[in-house]
Amino acid sequence: MTPSNSLPRMRLGRPLAFTPGKWAQHLVRAVPGLSVLSVFALLAQGHFRTVHALGWLDALALTVLLLGGALAMVRRVRRAMHGAALLLRDELELGATLLAASFVVVALLGDTAYPLIYLLMAFLVSFLSRPAGLTLVGMAVLFDALLTLPERWGVWLARVAFLGLFAGLYHLVLRARLLASQRAEHDAVKNKIRELEERARTFRLVSSGSHDSLPGVQEQEKWLVAAVKEIEGATGSALEIAELAVRAHTVGVFLLTQDDRGLKLHDCRSASERVQRERFPAGEGVFGALLKRGLPLRMNADGGVKGVTHYEPGGPEVRAICAVPIVEGSGHVRGVLVADRLDNSPFTDDEERLLTTVAAEVLRSIEVERVMSYIRRSRDEKDRFFKALEELNRAGSPDQVFLAVLESARHLAPLDFCAVTLVAEEQGKRLHKIMRMSGVTNAGRALEGRSFADNNGLVANVVRYGAPLPGRDAGAMDRQIIFDDDTQIRGLQSLKIFPLVAGGRSLGTLVAGSRKKAAFDSDELRMLEVVALSAAQAVLRAQLFEQMERMATTDGLTGLLNHRTFQGRFDDALAGAKRYGRKLSVILTDVDHFKSVNDTYGHPTGDQVLKGVARILRETARDTDLVARYGGEEFAIIMPETDTKGAQVIAERIRERVMAEVFQSEQGPLKVTLSLGIATCPDVGEQKQQLIDLADQCLYFAKRHGRNQSVTVQHMQAGGRRVAEAG
Ligand code: GH3
Ligand code: MG
Ligand code: MG
Repeated sequence: MTPSNSLPRMRLGRPLAFTPGKWAQHLVRAVPGLSVLSVFALLAQGHFRTVHALGWLDALALTVLLLGGALAMVRRVRRAMHGAALLLRDELELGATLLAASFVVVALLGDTAYPLIYLLMAFLVSFLSRPAGLTLVGMAVLFDALLTLPERWGVWLARVAFLGLFAGLYHLVLRARLLASQRAEHDAVKNKIRELEERARTFRLVSSGSHDSLPGVQEQEKWLVAAVKEIEGATGSALEIAELAVRAHTVGVFLLTQDDRGLKLHDCRSASERVQRERFPAGEGVFGALLKRGLPLRMNADGGVKGVTHYEPGGPEVRAICAVPIVEGSGHVRGVLVADRLDNSPFTDDEERLLTTVAAEVLRSIEVERVMSYIRRSRDEKDRFFKALEELNRAGSPDQVFLAVLESARHLAPLDFCAVTLVAEEQGKRLHKIMRMSGVTNAGRALEGRSFADNNGLVANVVRYGAPLPGRDAGAMDRQIIFDDDTQIRGLQSLKIFPLVAGGRSLGTLVAGSRKKAAFDSDELRMLEVVALSAAQAVLRAQLFEQMERMATTDGLTGLLNHRTFQGRFDDALAGAKRYGRKLSVILTDVDHFKSVNDTYGHPTGDQVLKGVARILRETARDTDLVARYGGEEFAIIMPETDTKGAQVIAERIRERVMAEVFQSEQGPLKVTLSLGIATCPDVGEQKQQLIDLADQCLYFAKRHGRNQSVTVQHMQAGGRRVAEAG
C-alpha cells in the first residue's frame, strides 16, 4: 500500500464539521441554563404576579424550566450511578432551575412564601458541592436584588442576611453531625482492637505488656489482629464440624485465664442466647471436676445435669454433656471444649473421641499462631541485634564504642540502667573506670568517668573471673556492690554484669540493670552477652588503633612528638598565630657534651638521661605547648601565644630543672646541662625555616659561649651576654 492512497482514506470517513445530531445535543445541553435566564428575565419584568394573569410566554418559560430541571436531574443521577465525578455545571443547572422555580412560586404566592427560598438554600448548600452551593447563594442574592432594588433596600438586606444564616447554619449542623459520627466510628474501632488484644492475651500470644514501650508496636498490633482472626477462623470451623457431627445444642471452647483461675468463652456454636460470655470460676461444677482430673467427662440426667456453669442464670436445662480438656503437649491444661444436649441422649465413645480431636485441633490453631508470634518477635529481635552489632563494628574511637554499646543494649533489653567499665593496670594495681553509663540512678551522671580500685564488688569480680554475675537473679540487689562502696545504685531488681573479653583477657564489663523483677529473658541475656563480646572486640580494636596512631606520631623512647609530627604541628600553629596576629615562640635545646655521657656511662644510661630530660620538658611546658624530640638529643618546644620574654622564662625553668636533676647509673650518679635557643614570630621572622634556623643559631651561640644557658635572637644579635647573669 502506498502512502498516497492510504492517508486520504483514513481521514475521509470522519468529517470535522458539526453534524445535525451534535447541534441538537448542544441545544439540549443549553436548555436548563436558557430556561433559568428566561424565567428570571420574565420575573424582572414583573411577570408571574398572579396565577390568573399567566400568559402563553410565562407558560412556555415554565415548561422549558421544568424540562431543564428534569434534564439536569437526569444527568446528575446518571453520573452518580456510573460512579463518575459530579460536574459543577450539572449541579449549578439543577440548583438554578430549582431556585428559579421557587422564585416563581414566591412571586405567585407573595412575600410570605419567601422562607421557601431559605429552605431551598439550606438544602442546596448541604447536598451540593461547596462551590455550587456558594454560587447559588450568590445567584439568589443577585436575583433578589433585581426584584427588590432600588426601592426595597431593607427587605433585600434582611433576606440576604437570612439566606446567609440558613445556608451557614445548615452547613455547620451537618458538619458537626459528620464529625460526631466519625468520632463514634473511631472509638468503635479502638474498642475492637482492645478487645482483640485482650483475646490475644488470653491466648498468651503476647506476654502482658512487657514490650509495649518498644518501637514498631503499631506494626505488631496489625499483625496481632490478623493472628487472632486466624485463630478464630480455624477454631470456628472446627466447632461447626463438631456441632453438626454430634448434633449438640451448644459446642463451645472456654480457655483458662492467665491466672488459671477463671474460664472465658473463646468461641461457640449454640442454639442458645445464654451461653456465659463473662469470665467464670474454673474450679466449680463439671468443668472444675474435669480440670482437676485432666480427662474427658460425660454426664447425663433426666432432671438436668448438675454443675453446668457455661450458661448464664436462666439458661437452658442440659440433660447430656461431654467435656474434654484442651491439653498442651507438656500436659498443661489450657481450657475446655464442651458439647451438650437438651434431650437425654448420652454422648457416645465415638462422639467423645471426635470432640477430643476437635479440642486438639483448637489447641493446634492457637499453638500455631503462638509459634508464629514467637518467630515474628524473635525476627524483630534479630534485626535489632544485627543492627546493634553493625553499629559496634562501625564505632572508631573507644568512646564511640561505649556509646554504641549503651545504645544497642537498651534496644535489645528493657534496661533502666546500663554502664560500661574498663580496667587498667597502673603501677601494678588494677583500676576500674566507669567509661559511660545511661539510666537514672540516685547518683545521676556523676558516676561517669569515675575510677575505683580493685575490690570485692561485682564488676571487679566479673573482670577477675571473666564470667557474668550474678549467677541467679538475686533478690536483694540493694545490698550488692556493683562498682564500689561509694557508688550505690538502689532500686534495681534485675542485674547482670557481663565481662568484655577480647584477646584472652577481660577489658572491662557491661552492666545491665532493670527496676523490674526477672526483667530479662534468656534470649535477651544471650544477646547482651554477644553484645558484650563484640563490644570487647571493638574496644580492643579502638585501643589498638589509638596505639598505632600514637606510635606513628610520637617518639618511641621519650613519648614526645616525633620530628615529622613536629613539622606538621609547627605549620598549623604558625598559621594560627599569623591569622590572629599572635606571637609564637620556638625553643630548640641540645644536651651539653652528651657524647661523653654515652662514652662514660654507656648508651643505655644515655637513653635514661634523654627520657629524664624529656619528662622535665613535658612537665615544665604548658598544656598548649608542643614538645617534640627534634633529633638525637635535641628537643623543640613550640609555644603559641608566647612572646620572647615568656619563652625565656620557661626556657630558664627547664634549664634549671635539668641542671638540678640527678640521674642514676651503674657507675654512680650523674648530671647534665642543657643549652637552649629561642626565636619568636613575628619579631625575628615569620617563616618556619627562618625561625628554626635562628633558634638553632642561638643554640650554637649558647654552646660557643659556655653552654648551660638560654639565648634569644636579641641577645645573640646584641653580642650575647649570659642570660643567667642578666637574670
Ligand atoms: P655538644 O655540647 O656540643 O652538644 O656536645 P655533644 O657531645 O652533645 O655533641 P652532639 O650534640 O653532636 O652529640 C650528640 C650525641 O648524642 C651523638 C649521639 O651518639 C648521641 N645520641 C643521639 N641520639 C641518641 C640516643 O637516642 N641515645 C643515646 N644514648 N645517645 C644518642
Ligand atoms: Mg646534638
Ligand atoms: Mg649535644
